[in-house]
Amino acid sequence: MGRQPGKTGRHKTMRLTTHFSSEELVPGRLTSLVNLVQVSMLKALANNLEIIRAFVNAPITIISGLRDEIEQQKLIKQGYHPSDKSDHFFGRKPFTAGAADITFKTPEDARVIFYELVSRFDFHKEVIILPVGYVDVGQLILECSPKNRFYWIHIGNNKKLFYKDPPPPTVMKFKTSMNNGVTYLPVGGFEKI
Ligand SMILES: [Zn+2]
Repeated sequence: MGRQPGKTGRHKTMRLTTHFSSEELVPGRLTSLVNLVQVSMLKALANNLEIIRAFVNAPITIISGLRDEIEQQKLIKQGYHPSDKSDHFFGRKPFTAGAADITFKTPEDARVIFYELVSRFDFHKEVIILPVGYVDVGQLILECSPKNRFYWIHIGNNKKLFYKDPPPPTVMKFKTSMNNGVTYLPVGGFEKI
């Protein structure tokens, strides 16, 4: 079987780290469209997930990774309020650096783990310091669907790793949204970052 014309097939499913592969972060429809910059964003994200996984000593479920406009519209139809400049676009829009929405064994775990991670943020090194390694995030958001109190964590790559002169941060590094992304609240003490 030859490849279809116009498809390079360069980036199929790939293992990113020990426990994460690209198929968990990339919808099948978009697999062949992933470019090299996006591969580096996927790897950075998976590295952070790997460290968090080791820290909590439990598997992580990825509920959303790379998006395009079609994925975005699907979420809006489902009642979510995804940002138009979301890092889930993985470089498809300016200064988006890659992000994933993750859950753990029980929905409540996400809430506990979120505050545990925030409490370990080091202001000088600007990373979350865990005994198993550093987590360098752009944004960490605890989100909740109010209907069923389903919690998840949005974890975004640090833009500084991918853009020489990213715009100054206009967003809070650590925040929570208890209404599907309609409104956000800063997490105490971290709003100036
Ligand atoms: Zn997200």
